[in-house]
Amino acid sequence: MPNIVVVGAGVSGLTCALLLAKQKGNTVTVVAKHMPGDYDAEYTSPWAGANVLPMALAKDSRWEGRTWPELRRLAATTPEAGLHIQTARVLRRTKDVTAGLKAALSDGLFQPDPWFRELMDDFREIPAAQLPPGMHSGCEFTSVCINTAVYLPWLVGQCAKHGVTFKRAVLKHISEAKGMMGPQGKGGKVDVVVNATGLLACRLGGVMDTKVYPARGQIVLVRNEAEGFMPTTSGCEDGEDEVVYVMQRALGGGTILGGTYMKGNWDPNPDPNIAMRIMKRAVETHPELTGGKGVEGLDIIRHGVGLRPLREGGVRIEKEVIDGTWVVHNYGHAGWGYQGSYGCAERVVELVDEIAAQTRRTSKL
Ligand code: FAD
Repeated sequence: MPNIVVVGAGVSGLTCALLLAKQKGNTVTVVAKHMPGDYDAEYTSPWAGANVLPMALAKDSRWEGRTWPELRRLAATTPEAGLHIQTARVLRRTKDVTAGLKAALSDGLFQPDPWFRELMDDFREIPAAQLPPGMHSGCEFTSVCINTAVYLPWLVGQCAKHGVTFKRAVLKHISEAKGMMGPQGKGGKVDVVVNATGLLACRLGGVMDTKVYPARGQIVLVRNEAEGFMPTTSGCEDGEDEVVYVMQRALGGGTILGGTYMKGNWDPNPDPNIAMRIMKRAVETHPELTGGKGVEGLDIIRHGVGLRPLREGGVRIEKEVIDGTWVVHNYGHAGWGYQGSYGCAERVVELVDEIAAQTRRTSKL
């Protein structure tokens, strides 16, 4: 006890599976439609930059607060996981501050005097004289960039090392997970199902969460290098659902240029006009990307779209009984699934422990 099936092999499902499998007595199977190595807009995790730019408001900071130390540790001690240390530079435009910072990604990230100044190493406000034109203020801190093409397979490897079984399957209903424990589903009775289905939680029978919808993120991956800085700004002139960020991935993973945050938009195809705007903004904020040669100097690896799992009311991490089986939900991480992954997975482990303790108490009666 307990036998656990985790549905989902994105960063949320894999991190949960790893932490659960590390606990003595747990047996874990991961079941997923998509696995690391697949590229599909509705499988969000491979498309992320990914870096750590805290977005929570102070009251919700547990997930990011608990995750940062682990990601920093991995970057420092475990090169094969595909993370490296980079400096994040967050710029608040005068225009956006005056308008009350309503930009797409503005939640906690662009707040002046943010809660995460205590969390992130080397946090400093940028002196006014060093700000680019049009900027009200800004800050810098030590962060990481994660090469998702390395990190997700690394998580699979870590899970396998801790005895996790993997299975490909598309579930129509969450209750189907009950028959999927271990090889060929012959691993015994399932005690707990962890639902880490991301965006597709809105279509999964037994869950059908109508509060979940996409925030479409279009990116361009290039071979050009960004020299250690990851800039992002509170807005841009190209529209409220377009954003600006640049992140160089570890281990030759290229540089991600972003992006968009288009709420309710399911289009999986890269839009060439948006791609051109993304590239123009990137070379404007980061002329050294192309040595001053402008967009023509960019060497493109791939255009892509990932759909972030946005949820009205925020992430859902809670337990409930569905068709007689305990289900622990962990989905709806929007644009912070990596930077909140360990904090959320720790909470899932707590909930599974609570269920196991309750079941033990009941069976003694
Ligand atoms: P997913 O990765 O979508 O995984 C869901 C899993 O569930 C998949 O394996 C899928 O196959 C499976 N599944 C779903 N339904 C079923 C079913 N019915 N049957 C079987 N399996 C099923 N986050 C950061 O922290 N930092 C960043 O810098 C960052 N940048 C981003 C940039 C872009 C362009 C995008 C798109 C996202 C970014 N994010 C970032 C957000 C992050 O990528 C997501 O929050 C995270 O990937 C969500 O992971 P997940 O595991 O919950 O979902």
